[in-house]
Amino acid sequence: MEAVRARYCFDGSRFVPGGVTLLLEEGRIAGVEPHAFEVPDGCAVSTYGGTLLPGLVDMHVHLVTDSGPDALSRVAGYSDEEVDAVVTEALRRQLAAGVTTVRDLGDRWFNVVDRRDRQRVDGRRDQHPQPRIVASGPPVTVPGGHCHYMGGEVTGADGIRAAVRERAERRVDVVKVMASGGVNTPGTDVMRTQFTDDDLRLLVDEVHAAGLPVTAHAHGTPSVRQALTARVDGIEHCTCMTETSFGDPGEDLLAALGSSGVVVCPTLGMDRAAQPQPPPPLLALLERLGTTVEGMLTGRLRYTARLRDAGVRLVSGVDAGIQPGKAHGTLPVAVAELVQAGFGVAEAVATATSLAADACGLSGTTGRLRVGCEADLLVVEGDLERDVAALRSPVSVRRRGVEVHLNASGPHPVR
Ligand SMILES: [Zn+2]
Repeated sequence: MEAVRARYCFDGSRFVPGGVTLLLEEGRIAGVEPHAFEVPDGCAVSTYGGTLLPGLVDMHVHLVTDSGPDALSRVAGYSDEEVDAVVTEALRRQLAAGVTTVRDLGDRWFNVVDRRDRQRVDGRRDQHPQPRIVASGPPVTVPGGHCHYMGGEVTGADGIRAAVRERAERRVDVVKVMASGGVNTPGTDVMRTQFTDDDLRLLVDEVHAAGLPVTAHAHGTPSVRQALTARVDGIEHCTCMTETSFGDPGEDLLAALGSSGVVVCPTLGMDRAAQPQPPPPLLALLERLGTTVEGMLTGRLRYTARLRDAGVRLVSGVDAGIQPGKAHGTLPVAVAELVQAGFGVAEAVATATSLAADACGLSGTTGRLRVGCEADLLVVEGDLERDVAALRSPVSVRRRGVEVHLNASGPHPVR
């Protein structure tokens, strides 16, 4: 047994006054005790002056993208070896930022699903800790549709059924569907739906019949409305764009999103220091909407607060890897943006820990400092409750109890 003692503590839902002493055994949390708890003889204790919290969950990543300019469109040209190297580096960066679980929503073919399967076999030895992967496989899209080059194009009802069958056979954790066009795929339109109402409904029904959840990429209001009507479990981006505004769902749609129980990942998190200017396709979209980068960012924060007020289940994910401002490991920026939008710090961090774990079906596994959960842990500098920016200063990361080095060439196991 070993113990981790920290002066401050966030347990996944709330800050615990007075800090905590966590007991770890065989990679799991074996006890959650007061800070002054006297540990049993022979139990090694790691003591921190900062804040201990569950390892983070990034709900929207693309492990096959390398965080460079135009990363998505370069994916199609990679060899399998290149994809593998990009995935490894993406996982390394995520873990170094304290992210111990990633939900991958845009595989090229089934590269990430294969990695997840290998991880489940090899990971037991914990020699090279990596974030846990929750994987969708290639997003289902229409011919020539958003991210068509990732291998998920389908045509007609038979194509939809075959795509769902293939994903179920590959044991994906969730199915991703592109309900609208995307900013980064030329020839598609974020304002328009890609599928007919019937086809999207068929897809959702087939996925549910296979016992899986489905999440829909949806920007324009028509696609959000269509996805909600088709009874998806999650909506990505959910920007509710119209030709004249950024993030204006209207009161009826807002209320419907709130009462549906659908999980919305607004994909906030834009590191302006890493990328002062958005990519050209986004600039063109902003021009079409008659707004600026600042207008978009403040509009999205105001809109996200409205989603919260309407009772929408929100989780945090970056769309990590697609460009420098959304590099792997940017999740703390997305959480800080929620605080900027008026969220309490506990409420904001919960969207990247307990609420995210719940949305992945991992409630009893990760995302909380609770007995029986895997010891996926993050310690950050200082008092996180007072300053959410502390989330960007990790001092210790443990994946299933194994501490990883946070140096430039890491993470590697400490022992
Ligand atoms: Zn994405």
